[in-house]
Amino acid sequence: MVQFERMQSRGLRRAARPIGLVVLAMTLGALTLSACGSSTASSKNGKPTVVATTSIMGDLVQQVGGNAVNVEVLIPRGADPHDFEPSASQAARLRDASLVVANGLGLEERLASTLQSAANDGATVFEVGSHIDPLMRPGTDHPDPHFWLDPDRMIRAASLVADELARTTNIDRSVLDANVKTYTDTVQVAAADAALTLDTVPETQRLLVTNHDALEYFANRFRYKVIGTVIPGGSTLAEPSASDLRELVATIKSSGVKAIFSESTTSSKLADTVAREVGKNIAIVELSTDSLGAPGSPTSTYQGLLSNTARLIANGLNGK
Ligand SMILES: [Zn+2]
Repeated sequence: MVQFERMQSRGLRRAARPIGLVVLAMTLGALTLSACGSSTASSKNGKPTVVATTSIMGDLVQQVGGNAVNVEVLIPRGADPHDFEPSASQAARLRDASLVVANGLGLEERLASTLQSAANDGATVFEVGSHIDPLMRPGTDHPDPHFWLDPDRMIRAASLVADELARTTNIDRSVLDANVKTYTDTVQVAAADAALTLDTVPETQRLLVTNHDALEYFANRFRYKVIGTVIPGGSTLAEPSASDLRELVATIKSSGVKAIFSESTTSSKLADTVAREVGKNIAIVELSTDSLGAPGSPTSTYQGLLSNTARLIANGLNGK
């Protein structure tokens, strides 16, 4: 238990971060003035530029806009969207874009003031999450931002993004509609495949322990249950107390689950400690929940992410 207590000191370092945001906001204020009067750079090769915050939203915009759109993604693949702060030049790109597509619902915590500044300067910022009937985090009135792990909500999001592209760019509506249909069909295939994979786990063992609370929508959609989370509070920025971790260890022992699901974007150090405390062979399985993987990897598209997540969860719980 000593290890748990030592790790809590990390919380002190986190508390110092908001000062950085204030400095950033001041820098942005100065940039706003100098950007006035410059010509817009919202199109390249005659195509409109859309800036997306996360790789998952970027992939959605790219699949819906197809060849008719340039997509720029702010948060690099593999980076934690909860914890990403933009550079001043990235912030300036938001104001030049035809459209900015954000996940919203508090996911991009450290981007919020930049998105607000861009909107104040006239950028069209579309937060997808506020339009897809979000789940509330258990016992709170705060929405859970990880809606993309429900394929049905992503299919709705594709139509919403098509509407925004039709409103803010000159892309032909029939092109957008055809791309939405393809997106819908391919996501439905990936979701059906995921359901088959997940159904290989015996019903009583469809229990998830996660590093941070990213899998509620996924669990809800595929009839699984999240029984415990290492990092509390829905983000990756909070710190569990020693008693939180002791309780989690007890939950894991009594449930008999064989795996803890961590994510590619956050350290699994605490999850490793929990696994050691459980004291038997429990796997830490890394999922790409909050970011797509590198181009060419199995999780380089949303459809791939969905299939891969299902496969890794089923294998982890089946002890493979
Ligand atoms: Zn997350």
